[in-house]
Amino acid sequence: MNPFIELGIRHDIVNAITELGFEKPTPIQEQAVPVLLAGSNDFVGLAQTGTGKTAAFGLPLLELLDFSLNAPQALILCPTRELCLQISKDIEKFAKNVPDVHVVAVYGGANISDQLRQIRRGVQIVVATPGRMLDIIGRKAIDFSNVRYVVLDEADEMLNMGFQEDINNILSTTPKEKKTWLFSATMPAEVRRIAKQYMTDPVELTMGTKNTGNVNIEHEYYMVRARDKYAAFKRIVDFNPDIFGIVFCRTKVETQEIAEALIKDGYNADALHGDLSQQQRDKVMKRYRDRSLQLLIATDVAARGIDVNDVTHVINFSLPDEIENYTHRSGRTARAGKTGISIAIINSKEMGKIRQIERVIGKKFVKAEIPNGFDVCEKQLFGLVHKVNNVPVNEDLIGPYMARIMEEFAEMDKEEIVKRFASIEFNRFLDYYKNAPDLNAVAESAGSFGDRRETSGGKGERFGRTGYKSDFTRLFLNLGSVDEFTRGDMLGFICNNTKISGKSIGKIDLKGVYTFFEVENEVVDKVFSGFQTVEFKGRQVRVEMAGEGRAEGSKGGFGHGGGRPKPSYRSNSQGQRRGRDNDHESGTGFRDFSGKRKEVKKRW
Ligand code: AMP
Repeated sequence: MNPFIELGIRHDIVNAITELGFEKPTPIQEQAVPVLLAGSNDFVGLAQTGTGKTAAFGLPLLELLDFSLNAPQALILCPTRELCLQISKDIEKFAKNVPDVHVVAVYGGANISDQLRQIRRGVQIVVATPGRMLDIIGRKAIDFSNVRYVVLDEADEMLNMGFQEDINNILSTTPKEKKTWLFSATMPAEVRRIAKQYMTDPVELTMGTKNTGNVNIEHEYYMVRARDKYAAFKRIVDFNPDIFGIVFCRTKVETQEIAEALIKDGYNADALHGDLSQQQRDKVMKRYRDRSLQLLIATDVAARGIDVNDVTHVINFSLPDEIENYTHRSGRTARAGKTGISIAIINSKEMGKIRQIERVIGKKFVKAEIPNGFDVCEKQLFGLVHKVNNVPVNEDLIGPYMARIMEEFAEMDKEEIVKRFASIEFNRFLDYYKNAPDLNAVAESAGSFGDRRETSGGKGERFGRTGYKSDFTRLFLNLGSVDEFTRGDMLGFICNNTKISGKSIGKIDLKGVYTFFEVENEVVDKVFSGFQTVEFKGRQVRVEMAGEGRAEGSKGGFGHGGGRPKPSYRSNSQGQRRGRDNDHESGTGFRDFSGKRKEVKKRW
């Protein structure tokens, strides 16, 4: 038998939720539905977001209300417009096969006349945010005398947002004998007080351990210097090519700035915050849901109640001021039984806050390392390989070109072709990341959490900055063994183009798609001028300073800006590309997100 039927839900509703993919109840549904179906108790459910709460109270409501009576019988209060819409839509979907069910969503920022009209027409279930609800009550436009159930969803959030008084006022207009069901992710004293004030002997259910976060979420922190935060963030994103994330900032301004910087750097990102009009917010949310956006940069308030499945990462670009908010943020991932990662990018002074959060969520953070440039390149390379393997081929459109393409590659074997296709993107990331510094910061006091680590050496040196003589300068050149150079060839190539003697050239470190070589300090300028206009098989030959000081503007025109490499395959699902070519921007100045205005030097 269908497990929902066993719980006491009727066939019509079970059919509808089966279509939504609900095969078996989530733990909260399993525990709460039988209690709520009895209809005779007040109820307190301590449950995280994304655990199936809406159905836990929505399904029993559909069983308990009398839909032949066209008057408000259930009032659901929730903190945000997004959640309000989500709940009303969910309940409508559950009730698809039940006749005469009328649900209205009542929330601020939308036309009140439409909402009033719907109420006049007759509704049984009112889903509302407190402010607009009070407005409507004030207009005497709704009669709550038939209300039998009040649901307070995300009660802690409503209190956080200052709705306490509104809730008191709204509840005072409902009949005394109604039952109140309260759901909250956390149980701070204020929520306890509400429970005490409005409920009689509520049945209390805790899903999982009290205050324990969703077990499917892994919590990680990265420790970086404050000035490296944005660079570190981008590196985390680049290391996760398939990321579909929500990035939390503390203020609207920070949200907007990060989103703008990301867009400029070629990422699919946009901002969601309270200064946007409702229409703009809807548009951003639609693009995010459609996955046209890969990164949604949001404030706490704007992102509350967002229910988008398959969010892979929540990134705390800034930790929330209120520790409790961390739970709400991380609850945007790992929904409906999926797994997810919640990341905090912190500086060493914020370690205390991490410990506080750990106490609230009842789970330890794992300390993670900002990946080095090489690891990012490797990840991107295999991300690309995976994409090539899975790309849908439009036979009709590509067909006519195939003969010419095959002719072009007639001389090459399969391995060579694959190598070259892979190199197109790999080279970009290599160029971008080859001198990427280690962004991991050392903890302020090793003793305090015992994980001091080296910030140089180790894997980060794979791109090689050390071991060359001080009277020699180490340079980078964008050709390597893939271009069929041997070290002897490279020596000749450099000498021929720069007219310097082989004796001025030190170690030549030939890599796949690039080469490091040393030249005497006095001839560095000659090397740069010699290669200024050289091409190799149609490609511009580029020489740059190797090592950390490389792209600091010393040799105009060779440095990279703050943008990411311009991956041509990095497009969204509709095949659009955002952002612009930043490959050769120089000296991008953007805000230091700690607040001060500063010029951000080109690091990579
Ligand atoms: P909620 O906590 O109500 O916001 O639900 C989170 C997500 O889980 C929503 O996308 C629901 O559609 C989904 N969901 C809820 N209950 C179930 C279930 N029993 N089986 C599968 N998915 C569910």
